[in-house]
Amino acid sequence: MTVEPLLAVSVDLDPLPCYYRIHALGEPPAELRDLVLRRALPRLAELFARHRVPATWFVVGEDLDAGAVGAASAAAARALLAERHAAGDELGNHSDTHPYDLARRPADEVARELGGCDARLRAITGGRIAGFRAPGYDLSPTMLAELARLGYVYDSSIYPAPGYYAAKAVVMAALRLAGRPSGAVLTEPRALAAPTEPYRPSMAAPWRRGQAPVVELPIAVTPWTRLPAIGTTLILAPAWARRAALAAMRRRELFNLELHGIDLIDAELDGIPGELVARQPDLRVPLDAKLEALDGVLAALAAERRAVTLRVAAARTQAA
Ligand SMILES: [Zn+2]
Repeated sequence: MTVEPLLAVSVDLDPLPCYYRIHALGEPPAELRDLVLRRALPRLAELFARHRVPATWFVVGEDLDAGAVGAASAAAARALLAERHAAGDELGNHSDTHPYDLARRPADEVARELGGCDARLRAITGGRIAGFRAPGYDLSPTMLAELARLGYVYDSSIYPAPGYYAAKAVVMAALRLAGRPSGAVLTEPRALAAPTEPYRPSMAAPWRRGQAPVVELPIAVTPWTRLPAIGTTLILAPAWARRAALAAMRRRELFNLELHGIDLIDAELDGIPGELVARQPDLRVPLDAKLEALDGVLAALAAERRAVTLRVAAARTQAA
């Protein structure tokens, strides 16, 4: 029996302060705090609608908190996400404040981060939240235990891409040498050898197979070479490399395509400060070119796969 190939597109809605933290730039201008939600989410929603692809949006809970981002911004964010939920998209948990070192924090802090975002999302959907993605792709046994306690169906944090890990290590080392340590944290290196198709993880070592009630949906990497096949790398790749990456992925049972909200931000149109543009290569690609690249990717994938939310993809693994 062959397994029907699935496509699940998800978007990490990391707000601009996350990128400022990674590059050790302090805080962004206050008026840009909610830029990703305000500008990129509607663009992405329109792109997905054109290809009839449902999406899973991984939300940072604090963006919905009037105390943290202001009443108007929080209300606008809740309205945008309520609209996505009503349209059939899924809302997923991306922690409450996006701490890059969450995997190194104790159980009570993990419970607060996961539970806080979960409560804010349930207030929008009126139902249970099914999935989680860790800040910086780093999943600890403590986090997995908390997801199981919350009754989550899946986690989608494992990103077994050694090339990404190496590139991140180089940037972090360079910033450390410059005396401006990055806010990013290196992921658990054992996760680089994790399975690349959906699996049931071990509670004690989530990067290995086991008996956890929560299933793991790894983020897309190519077979054998484990090159990243996420939005940012596909956007930056020349057309021939993009086609090669998609061809290499043809036999995957699930193409778990991860995008970031910032993928559809235009440095000029959206007024991104030069200090961030200088450090974030994808911000130097104009919106039109990024849209064209993603349009091609989604058209190719939607033609050969059934597009579902991650919750639906997880249900298949749960049932297996
Ligand atoms: Zn994130």
